[in-house]
Amino acid sequence: MKIICIGRNYAEHAKELNNPVPSRPVVFMKPPSALLVNNKPLYYPEFTSDLHYELEVVLKVAKNGRHVQPEFASAYYKEVSLGIDFTARDLQQECKEKGQPWEIAKGFDGSAVLGKFIALDKVNRSAIEFELKKNGAVVQHGNTKDMIFSFEDIIVYVSQFFKLQMGDLIFTGTPAGVGPVQVGDKLEGFIHTKTEIRQLLSCEVK
Ligand code: MG
Repeated sequence: MKIICIGRNYAEHAKELNNPVPSRPVVFMKPPSALLVNNKPLYYPEFTSDLHYELEVVLKVAKNGRHVQPEFASAYYKEVSLGIDFTARDLQQECKEKGQPWEIAKGFDGSAVLGKFIALDKVNRSAIEFELKKNGAVVQHGNTKDMIFSFEDIIVYVSQFFKLQMGDLIFTGTPAGVGPVQVGDKLEGFIHTKTEIRQLLSCEVK
C-alpha cells in the first residue's frame, strides 16, 4: 500500500503559502508507516516547532492500473474519506530552500491521519464539501469543485509513473486555512453527505 499525495491543488492554498499555482500536479508520497487510524492521537514530533494540519479528501484506489485513460479514471475509486496531511512546516521550508525532497517534513510517523471511508454515492462526487474544526471552531472549509486537478486528472497523471494498486490512498490536496497545532489541540474532520454533515475523523495532538 502506498500513500500518494497531491500538493497545491487549491489555488487559494497555493497563494497563502506563496507558492505558484502548478501547471501539473505536485506529487509526493508518504510511507505506510505514516498512517494514523482509529482516531489515535498524534504525539507532537520533537524535530519541529511548527506542526501544521492540512485537511484533505482521500480516495481509496479500487483497482489496479497503470496509464489509466481519462474515460476510465472514475472507476478507480468508489469510497472517499478525509485525512490530515500533517506537515512540519519549518522543516519543509528548509527543504524547499535547499532544493531537497521534503519527505522528512511530510512523511514522518503519524503524518497521514485517515478517517472512516464512505461510499461515493453518499456524497455529491463532483463537489464534496468538507471542513476541519480545531477545538470546536471551523478552521478549514473546502469544496472539491475548487480543485485545480480533479480526482480523475490525478489518477490519470500519477498512474503514468506509479502503478495504482487496490488499497492505495490518494490525498488530494488541502484548501486554504492551514495552520499550526499545539499540544492539547483536538482536530475533527467533517464531510457533507447528501443528507447530513458526518464526522469522519478525530485526532488529538499530545
Ligand atoms: Mg497536503
